[in-house]
Amino acid sequence: MISIVVPCYNEQEALPLFYEEAARVIGGMDEPCEFILVNDGSADDTLKVMRELADRDSRVKYISLSRNFGKEAAMYAGLCNAGGDYVAVMDADLQDPPSLLPRMLELLRGGEYDCVATRRADRKGEPPVRSWFARQFYRLINRITDAEIVDGARDFRLMRRSMAEAIISLSEYNRFSKGIFGWVGFRTYWISYDNIERVAGQTKWSFWKLFVYALDGIISFSQVPLNIVSWFGTGITGLSFIMLIFVIVRKLIFDDPVAGWASTICVILFMGGIQLMCLGIMGQYIAKTYMESKNRPHYIAAETNIENAKRIK
Ligand code: UDP
Ligand code: MG
Repeated sequence: MISIVVPCYNEQEALPLFYEEAARVIGGMDEPCEFILVNDGSADDTLKVMRELADRDSRVKYISLSRNFGKEAAMYAGLCNAGGDYVAVMDADLQDPPSLLPRMLELLRGGEYDCVATRRADRKGEPPVRSWFARQFYRLINRITDAEIVDGARDFRLMRRSMAEAIISLSEYNRFSKGIFGWVGFRTYWISYDNIERVAGQTKWSFWKLFVYALDGIISFSQVPLNIVSWFGTGITGLSFIMLIFVIVRKLIFDDPVAGWASTICVILFMGGIQLMCLGIMGQYIAKTYMESKNRPHYIAAETNIENAKRIK
C-alpha cells in the first residue's frame, strides 16, 4: 500500500482539485493507497473539505492539528500516522504532480532504490534576487554540512517504509527536512521537472520567512559558524598580542603612549561589534538547544478519523 501524506494549511480551494487528480492517477495504478491529509490549523474550511472527502472515500484519512504547527510538523504528523509500505509526501497545491507517482513506484519496485525524490529543473518564474539567494544558500550549506542538500529539491518524494521510519526516528524539534532527507541517506533517484504554479490559493512563504528558514537550516545541520567564531577570536587575540608589543616598545623607546583618540575608538567599536556578533551566533545555538531540551511534542492533534492515531508526538 502507498500512503500519501499531504500537509494542508488553508487549502480549501486546492485540496479538492488535488484529491480529484491524485485519485484519478491512483485509479490507474495496481497498488492500493491511503491519503493521510494533515490539517495544519487552517483558518478556512480545509477541515470541512477533509471530512467531506473522508465521507465519500474510505481511503481518505485525516488528522487535524490543534493549531498551525508549520509544514515540517504537519509532515511529521502525517509520516507518524502513515501505514503503507511506501510513503509519499506531497503538497496540496498540485505543484507536485501526482502523474509522476506511477513512474516513481516502478523505480522503487525495481529494488535498486529506496527513495525517488524530485527537484525543480530550474528557477524560472522566480524573482532574480530570490534565485540568487537560493543558489548561494545551497552552495554554502553543502560546503559546511555533511548531509547532501540538493539545490531545488522539493519535499515531494516516494520512499520505502524503512526510510520513512528513519526520518521519524530523527525526532529533533527543529526540523529542516531538506537536511533530514539527505542525512538519513538511502539510495535516492532524482527526477527533475519544470516548476509548476500552484493551482489555487496563496503561497505561505515570503522572502523573509525563506531567509529565516535558510539560517535555521544552517544552524540545525552545521557547527561551522561556531568554529569560525572561535578561529576569529583566536586570530584577533594573536593580533592584539602583536599590537601590545608594539605599544610597549613604542612607550619604552619614544615615551609617547597617548596617540590618537580616533584609533582607540575604532578598536573599541570593532571589538564590541565582533563580541556581540559572536555572542549572537552562540546564542542561536543555545536557543536551539534550549528548545530541544524541553522535549515538547512536534504536534498535537485535535481531531482525526484514523484508528489508533498517534495524536501527540
Ligand atoms: N503548509 C502547511 N503548513 C504551513 C505552511 C504550509 O502544512 O504552515 C503546506 C501547504 O498547505 C502546502 C505545502 O505545505 O500543501 C507547501 O506550501 P506552499 O505551497 O505555500 O509552499 P511553496 O510551494 O510556495 O514553497
Ligand atoms: Mg506550493
